Amino acid sequence: MIPTDAIARLGTESAFSVLARAAELQAQGRDIINLGIGQPDFPTPDNIVEAGIKALRDGHHGYTPAKGILPLREAVAADIHARRGVDVNPDNILIMPGGKPTMFFAIMVFGQPGTEIIYPDPGFPIYRSMIAYTGATAIPVQPREEDGFGYRAADILAKITPKTRLLVLNSPNNPTGGVFAKAEADALVKGLEAWPDVTILSDEIYSRMLYGGREHVSFISYPEIKDRVILLDGWSKTYAMTGWRMGYSVWPDALTDYAERLAINSHSCVNASAQYAGLEALSGPQDAVDAMVAAFDRRRAVIVGMLNALPGISCPDPGGAFYAFPNISGTGMDGRTLQRLLLEEGGVSTLPGSSFGDDAEDYIRFSYANSEDNIREAMARIERLLS
Ligand code: PLP
Repeated sequence: MIPTDAIARLGTESAFSVLARAAELQAQGRDIINLGIGQPDFPTPDNIVEAGIKALRDGHHGYTPAKGILPLREAVAADIHARRGVDVNPDNILIMPGGKPTMFFAIMVFGQPGTEIIYPDPGFPIYRSMIAYTGATAIPVQPREEDGFGYRAADILAKITPKTRLLVLNSPNNPTGGVFAKAEADALVKGLEAWPDVTILSDEIYSRMLYGGREHVSFISYPEIKDRVILLDGWSKTYAMTGWRMGYSVWPDALTDYAERLAINSHSCVNASAQYAGLEALSGPQDAVDAMVAAFDRRRAVIVGMLNALPGISCPDPGGAFYAFPNISGTGMDGRTLQRLLLEEGGVSTLPGSSFGDDAEDYIRFSYANSEDNIREAMARIERLLS
């Protein structure tokens, strides 16, 4: 067998191997508190589950259009209008099997040897993995810890060259919880005027999870760049639907046909009953989302307060998502060493910062998608270990 060089360059999400080790320890009878996983610990709201079941009973068993059923794409357009204040044509929307495939497609469209793609480091590991697969050069851009892991427009603009084809942005960010400040987003959009050939992939999968009165800054809302933004969002985090595999993207006119062809070449369409569940999610009551976000906000206060009280650890206030990303360099360990110690001896599962990029060895990621009691117990265990 002689696989391609490209496939050998494909990376992975090391979160899955940490999860596997945590499961192994649990199977041996160890009590592990899981603050590693990036998915809400809430069930999908009942009305959404019922809509999925009803769709199956109503006979929605076949293929749908590759872009997704029209009522769902119309509901997505209405939601984008309501939350982002911008009109998008349902013809430019693709319902996707989760958020991930949009990054896969966008990077496939722009990555080839000789091009450059800018991506957030630390960031979701699939950006870097896919860029490497295509043979494009991956250009990392770092947030500022002193700005609560916000990005500065100047830092991003300084990385753009005539070879840049795609700029990947992710706010609120995984793993830092950092959000893009409006003033920096304005400055970035202004700076991008000088670079009309740069397309923006804006991963806004945590757009509903914002705290402390922060408002979501969406790059598709800027008329100056709207025709070159690929918007990624979905149901996984907002509606606690990670296993349903439901996401969507909005594509510029010039790219929609390519994206649809990629869908036809890969998955044909998204599971029909899941699309009806997604329709109910967008058009039904939103109180379950509000309650979940309020619970995350309370946990955020608990975990950030307790992390900052630990010796050698400092944690900026995360503005969004459900992650805390403390700097642990004061413990004298790097992130991987501390993460192993916490898992193997402390019974607390986290992820090392290095799972999210080359520049994050001094950090570990905590997901606070777990109960307040478990978070408090985990912090007590860490305190015992560190002192
Ligand atoms: N984008 C970011 C920043 C994420 O953190 C995740 C999941 O953790 C995704 C996209 C993928 O979401 P999905 O599970 O819908 O594919």
